[in-house]
Amino acid sequence: MYTYRLYGDTYVLSIDNRQSIVEALAAFCREAGVRCGEITGLGAVDSATLRFFDMSLGHYVDRTYDEQMEIANLTGNVSEKDGQVYLHLHITLGRKDYSALAGHLLDARICGACELFVRPLPGVVGRRFSPEIGINLYEF
Ligand code: FE
Repeated sequence: MYTYRLYGDTYVLSIDNRQSIVEALAAFCREAGVRCGEITGLGAVDSATLRFFDMSLGHYVDRTYDEQMEIANLTGNVSEKDGQVYLHLHITLGRKDYSALAGHLLDARICGACELFVRPLPGVVGRRFSPEIGINLYEF
């Protein structure tokens, strides 16, 4: 599903072709014991589901794009909710016509390669659902 190696304080991670970014990242964080940290990366996908939190509706609106796209940037963080790895990921995707899509990443399928840096921080950051906002906020 992925291969990785630790360089200093940063993991360099390669997710295999056709894999789900979110499934692979969550499995990696569980295996490496990452409970808090930052994620950056790039690569390519052929299917991605983005979500936009519509404040006026109070919930997420999801949209799937089934086309080959470059991951121009993936940025995110790792925390923990209810004892489970919790990933918060945002992505910018470059389309064939060089326009870009961006949003919260629900999941995407790798098409080719995905190269990530995961930098763990010591300790744990939790999450708690905020009923007034409708999203899971950091809890220290
Ligand atoms: Fe988000």
